[in-house]
Amino acid sequence: MPASLSRNVKTRLLPLFSDTKLNNTTPQRFTNSETLYNPTFKDTITTLRSYLNLDKILNFQTPTIPVETICSHSVSVETRDCVYRLGHSSVLMKVDRVTILTDPVLGNRASPLEWAGPKRYHDLPISVNELPFVDVCLISHDHYDHLDKQTIKQLHNNVGVFLVPKCVASHLLEWGVPDNKIFEFDWWQSMKISGVRFAFAPTQHFSGRSFKQRDSSLWGSWAILGQKSNIYFSGDSGYFSGFKEIGDRYGPFDLTLMETGAYDENWADIHMFPEQSVQAHLDVRGRVMLPIHNTTFDLSYHVWNEPLIRAEQEARRLGVDFLCPKIGQKVLISELNVNGQERWWDENEKAHEV
Ligand SMILES: [Zn+2]
Ligand SMILES: [Zn+2]
Repeated sequence: MPASLSRNVKTRLLPLFSDTKLNNTTPQRFTNSETLYNPTFKDTITTLRSYLNLDKILNFQTPTIPVETICSHSVSVETRDCVYRLGHSSVLMKVDRVTILTDPVLGNRASPLEWAGPKRYHDLPISVNELPFVDVCLISHDHYDHLDKQTIKQLHNNVGVFLVPKCVASHLLEWGVPDNKIFEFDWWQSMKISGVRFAFAPTQHFSGRSFKQRDSSLWGSWAILGQKSNIYFSGDSGYFSGFKEIGDRYGPFDLTLMETGAYDENWADIHMFPEQSVQAHLDVRGRVMLPIHNTTFDLSYHVWNEPLIRAEQEARRLGVDFLCPKIGQKVLISELNVNGQERWWDENEKAHEV
């Protein structure tokens, strides 16, 4: 059922999909361009253990993470291009007065279960109900820490359109989003909305909300190309040569929202180490790098701020401008200033201040 729903969406919404495998009745399996990520059931259990291990649950300690409250009205009236991190990979932004939201996961956990799974470390800077009208909601892939059923259900009446990877529409339809609001994309396809071009680009990752659904929908990243600002939103990815191609096609970018966190040797093909995140930023031809996919949910074995400390160190080594605003803090694209930023993620520094 979901596959056929998804096919209807593709044919109906975007004529440019008419030449794809829509008439193929066998379910699609998507693959990466450079590597075959095909973990066994045992590998999946290892990953699940990192999400749900008892030690973590018993010793759960919430770090103190500063959050700046976002006023809905001030976002609505903002005319300058800007971004606000809401947490993990959820980013609210304005580009050419178009309000954009990426991968909204605004519940308490990034999990299929309400009572278990990674719990958020910090409050939301703005609640789902207070969000201003979102013209465009971008989804990178269907993993729980990027596509949250409860958030979509609460949010969709306040959203103009959802731009999603191929075969992700079926989830949204199931959760009550009307089909005329959903547009599915293959890699390198793009669409212009109110003057802003949204281009879907490859990443090296995988998909599925269960072992059975593995790779039955596509994954990727988004280039947001405005009149004055270009922003790259990485979604989830291992390091691969596709970043260079993205830079060639859509770069340079004023700002990259780059996956920096939830890495481990066990899944090195499909998530980047912080040093690779900085290299990916350079490959896509980014000017300032803003690390996402950290701080909110504990999805790996490393401590919450290790990705930020390592990425900052590598950025300094390579002369990359690294900007890590507080959750909820407004960042104006015209005034990207990496000097004098408060290093709120470095607990040693905080200890020295006291
Ligand atoms: Zn993922
Ligand atoms: Zn993720």
